[in-house]
Amino acid sequence: MTAADSKLITCFDIGGSYIRYGTTSVNIKQSTLASAEHIEHPEEQGRIKTPTNSFPDFIAALRSVIIQTHASAISISLAGAFDSHTGIADIANIPCLNGRHVETELSQALSLPVTITNDGGCFALAEAYYGAGKDATTSFSIILGTGVGGGIVFDKKLVTGFGGIAGEWGHGEIMDPTAGGLEPNMPVIKCGCSRTGCVDPICSARGLESIHQTLSGDILTSIEITKAWIAGEPKAIRTVNYYSQQLARALSMIVNLLGPEAIPAGGGLAKEPRLIANVDKILREMVLANYQKPLLQPGHFVDNGGLVGAAIVARQNLAAATKQNREI
Ligand SMILES: [Zn+2]
Repeated sequence: MTAADSKLITCFDIGGSYIRYGTTSVNIKQSTLASAEHIEHPEEQGRIKTPTNSFPDFIAALRSVIIQTHASAISISLAGAFDSHTGIADIANIPCLNGRHVETELSQALSLPVTITNDGGCFALAEAYYGAGKDATTSFSIILGTGVGGGIVFDKKLVTGFGGIAGEWGHGEIMDPTAGGLEPNMPVIKCGCSRTGCVDPICSARGLESIHQTLSGDILTSIEITKAWIAGEPKAIRTVNYYSQQLARALSMIVNLLGPEAIPAGGGLAKEPRLIANVDKILREMVLANYQKPLLQPGHFVDNGGLVGAAIVARQNLAAATKQNREI
């Protein structure tokens, strides 16, 4: 392979606090969808603070990285709601991107091809190629972090759906505050999207904390709650029982609908494998199909799914463009 055959793609994982970046090299001549299976994982080369209020500062931050990394294209994993069809972003944590056609505007400002994918989608692709979903035809990856996110991958392709937001299972008025009588006096918890009964404010790390505060009156972090649960503390047991039931119920509907062979989990709560195993056990008892092995499992890319997923997207896009050129 000569240098002229390869293309350097700079991958970004952009959240409300930091912009993390790494580089991957793609062979243009051999680029096929299958070759995405042999992609180099981009290691994190550095991180800078995310400029959240000024779009010119945001562009300048990306430009400073591109100059260092000699990028010929960029692929971005972006945390937040993002319509992959219209390109319009709705990102509470980065107000300077709100309402913009981010892909087009960044591409013009940086004079480079830019691809943007939702962070849940990037995590889902990383897991489907190399992680807990690598042997699955259908996988539904979930993020249980500050918020709840997810992504569906079928046959190694991310399913984006109408509006580009397929897999965003965190919102919709489906939660039963009583958990079927498990806790009859639970209040309905309002979601940041202004609805009530969403999965996000119950099943995220913040949700676990607010359930615990409501049931016990104690203010603990999600890590403290799971540690107390493992130690057998009764108040934490009550909280985790309620949480696990609610999460398993929401997932059971999705499992019956999609029939995934794997549900890799990311986000902070997935770092406690015993919590994930507890939910998995309840989930497999609820669903129609007979899953003999764990279905919900901690993912392999809990921390760097954004960069790895962005690299896969870049490779897939290049493969599609190469195929189109060959056919012309
Ligand atoms: Zn909501």
